[in-house]
Amino acid sequence: MPQNKHTILIVEDEPSLIFTLRDTLENEGFETIVAEHGKAALEIIEQTIPDLMILDVMLPGMSGFDVCKKIREKNLLFPIIMLTARDQEIDKVTGLNIGADDYITKPFGVKELLARIQARLRRSDDYSGRKNDVITLENLQLDLKNAVVRRPDGDIELTTREVEVLRYLAGYPNEPVTRRALLENVWRYDYSPNTSTRTVDVHISKLRNKIELRPDDPKHLVTMHGVGYMLKM
Ligand code: CA
Repeated sequence: MPQNKHTILIVEDEPSLIFTLRDTLENEGFETIVAEHGKAALEIIEQTIPDLMILDVMLPGMSGFDVCKKIREKNLLFPIIMLTARDQEIDKVTGLNIGADDYITKPFGVKELLARIQARLRRSDDYSGRKNDVITLENLQLDLKNAVVRRPDGDIELTTREVEVLRYLAGYPNEPVTRRALLENVWRYDYSPNTSTRTVDVHISKLRNKIELRPDDPKHLVTMHGVGYMLKM
């Protein structure tokens, strides 16, 4: 059984496949939630952010692609594995372009699906650093799970983007991270040629005001001149 009980949202309309997916995943120790169409999936996500989503392309109403797009537009970055029909090469490309992490072709074996899920979860756990949900820096705590900085002089709320920036930087403790890397990994789907690295600087500056006791003389979120930023831990 996985150490962390991960929740997987299954978005599929075919009853026999829902049954198989549920049964397989629950046997592996996952929690499952089922949505039979896209609108239901989006409603569930308003309440519960899953650790991973299995998303069928062919759904009644909104297609799997539209669901995926809408999720990425909300800047939610949990892994999405899309289920496509056999040999729909175009679907695979479309899926990856709109922000799906992986695809699997129907019919698929249970072992293959589980391997893909585990691979994606490992990557996203590393990235989001479940272990790093609370980061202690001397006399302050970055509580990323609850999106709040706990300082000696009180708590300050963080925006979703700020949490993502901190998570990314915390993935490379005491190492310089380039502005470009932040843009490409944190701004992923909002990233366009018009997005300048200035966007990163603006966010870092705001973040510094929240996490540094003296923002003009930062101790933790430091600038690496000519390179980018570093989180000193
Ligand atoms: Ca279907």
